[in-house]
Amino acid sequence: MNENQLSKRLERVGELVPEHSRLADIGSDHAYLPVALVLQKKITFAVAGEVVEGPYQAAKKQVRKNGLEEQITVRLADGLAAVETADQISAVTICGMGGALIRDILDAGWKNQRLAGNERLILQPNIGEKTLRDWLTVHGYTILEEDIIEENKKIYEIIVAKRETTRIVYSEKERRFGPILLNKRSEVFQKKWQRELKQRETILAQLEKATGDPQEKIGQLQKEILEIQEVLSNES
Ligand code: SAM
Repeated sequence: MNENQLSKRLERVGELVPEHSRLADIGSDHAYLPVALVLQKKITFAVAGEVVEGPYQAAKKQVRKNGLEEQITVRLADGLAAVETADQISAVTICGMGGALIRDILDAGWKNQRLAGNERLILQPNIGEKTLRDWLTVHGYTILEEDIIEENKKIYEIIVAKRETTRIVYSEKERRFGPILLNKRSEVFQKKWQRELKQRETILAQLEKATGDPQEKIGQLQKEILEIQEVLSNES
């Protein structure tokens, strides 16, 4: 991967960034995404935020190498602390981390007023998608778009959200599977949930043989297995 040839995952994220956005890419190791979008002339301004010195230096180097210091500001900061009001950010990308970490970054940004509330969020959690959708629902975000892709045998979900005037409260099932992914039920979606089903069935079989008192865990797994089976058999 480089600034001219993004991974399939980051390329799809980039496609979901609206044209002419003022972008904040948080966790911007090498600044690949903002650099690629500026080189494509899709955006003309970005902040690349990094909390770790090594990736921060790598991002600075990448921006310098491409002569984009005027368009991309690289900041060493924790999460959305990289964003300043004067940046007038209209889109935020947070990719390649766990859903709980992305949730924590959004939550801190929300509490510290680093999110104005009208930004489009383009989020790509590696795991923990439900945790993220729980936060988005509680904070009044509408899920505008979702995608699920496979790259190098790994499956990634991408969630695009924005606060709208009409509030949608997503059900537990929608928060687990994704309201839009659930409607589309693509091949990759089915593959992901077949895998998740198998994993849960294996754990359940082990727990059923275990001594001790795993009844609560068994009950939870049985509930999830039924829910996944129902989704895979296309019942609504
Ligand atoms: N976003 C890129 C991608 O999707 O390919 C890089 C993903 S990399 C696995 C995660 C990056 O997020 C690391 O460079 C890490 O230092 C950074 N990161 C983790 N927590 C962060 C935080 N609270 N604020 C800013 N950056 C963070």
